[in-house]
Amino acid sequence: MSQDYSQLFEQDRAHFMHPSTHAHDHANGALKGRIITGAEGIRLRDHEGRELIDAFAGLYCVNIGYGRTEVADAIHRQAKELAYYHTYVGHSTEAIIELSSRIIDWAPAGMKKVYYGLSGSDANETQVKLVRYYNNILGRPLKKKIISRDRGYHGSGIMTGSLTGLPSFHQHFDLPVEGVKHTVCPHWYRKAPAGMDEQAFVRYCADELEQLILAEGPDTVAAFIGEPLMGTGGIIVPPKGYWKAIQAVLDRYDVLLIADEVVCAFGRLGSKMGSQRYDIRPDLITTAKGLTSAYAPLSAVIVGEKVWNVIEEGSQKAGPMGHGWTYSGHPICAAAALANLDILERENLTENAEVVGAYLNRRMRETFEGHPLVGEVRGDGMLCAVEFMADREARTAFDPALKVGPQVSAACLERGMIARAMPHGDILGFAPPLVLSQEDAEQIVAITKAAVDEVAGKVLG
Ligand SMILES: *Cc1c(COP(=O)(O)O)cnc(C)c1O
Repeated sequence: MSQDYSQLFEQDRAHFMHPSTHAHDHANGALKGRIITGAEGIRLRDHEGRELIDAFAGLYCVNIGYGRTEVADAIHRQAKELAYYHTYVGHSTEAIIELSSRIIDWAPAGMKKVYYGLSGSDANETQVKLVRYYNNILGRPLKKKIISRDRGYHGSGIMTGSLTGLPSFHQHFDLPVEGVKHTVCPHWYRKAPAGMDEQAFVRYCADELEQLILAEGPDTVAAFIGEPLMGTGGIIVPPKGYWKAIQAVLDRYDVLLIADEVVCAFGRLGSKMGSQRYDIRPDLITTAKGLTSAYAPLSAVIVGEKVWNVIEEGSQKAGPMGHGWTYSGHPICAAAALANLDILERENLTENAEVVGAYLNRRMRETFEGHPLVGEVRGDGMLCAVEFMADREARTAFDPALKVGPQVSAACLERGMIARAMPHGDILGFAPPLVLSQEDAEQIVAITKAAVDEVAGKVLG
């Protein structure tokens, strides 16, 4: 059974350009890679034959867990029947028609149409184009700027990487591009001025947004984009009342709201989408990851009635919209999405995310609140984060050079579990598949505890 992987690793180093990877360390072998050979449920197998708990569901996308043959069968059936046809000029396939109605059923009220791509990034690219089109049709050519938030994550493209509010996605790429502005990240623990309570902080965030809109000129600001709960920026739960306060400002200046639900949609927060969880009324919604649980690449832009009506009327003077991807509405991806939604619904995985997610969050808080290495434990639904701080009360972070977050992540890996060292700050993130059991959650907490204690011993001496 045992196989020699050294040649495969050599080829990997020679010719495969990995995303988000230190190029030199990988090429010279200092960064040890890992070849994943199989997976089942919440567990992966690697080239050493090790079994690893995947407490991040890939990149928070494998919501139904690995190895679901039902999805593989649906993909197989569709590929045999009809692997591809385009959807331009009114062409359709059965799978994509059915999927569109199913997505609207998962969405909050007021949503009308679904536009497809293959990734969260391309979907947000579509959003920006729809917002521009909308305002051009309405005769407001100046209303084009998009506001996102520091530490928001919206993708890796030229426009979407600009919307992303993380410095590492801007540096060396000449981003952000013109017309993208960032406002305050709603993380009370790290961002609130000293002495400000959470309710005052909500008002502060709304005021900052309003000041930015007024400074730019309301007739130049087209849309605000935000994740209901911030993912990649550090798993940041919005403070109570945050979305209500933000929406009041957007309404005042006729600014569209794009809810980037790429992580939150399809059950992860214990609700159909994050919008229902936090009572958000978006004009446009972005989904991807959980839509297929990553069994095939697919994204969906969900267009609300307000924007759709303008697009439909606009076509009377503008003609067909010049926006399309070759693989918009790909039937194999649609078949995967339908099988994924079948499983989510049949196995009540949204409810499981709520119940087991609440359990995981409670056990993490009980285990780590007051721990000398830990500043904050936070989360909602099947998302959780532990942030490590040098001084919890004074809110001083560790020197990034100490790499406390990556050290804890590595200590977890040694114990057979993948938890993600988030790209910004010393934050360990958890986003397990929604099929997680209470027992699995307990094991995740136990491994994390051992890993954090080990690193605390090293760092705190
Ligand atoms: C992952 C992610 C994206 C980008 O999706 P890709 O498929 O990686 O392009 C966009 N928005 C959010 C909130 C995400 O988490």
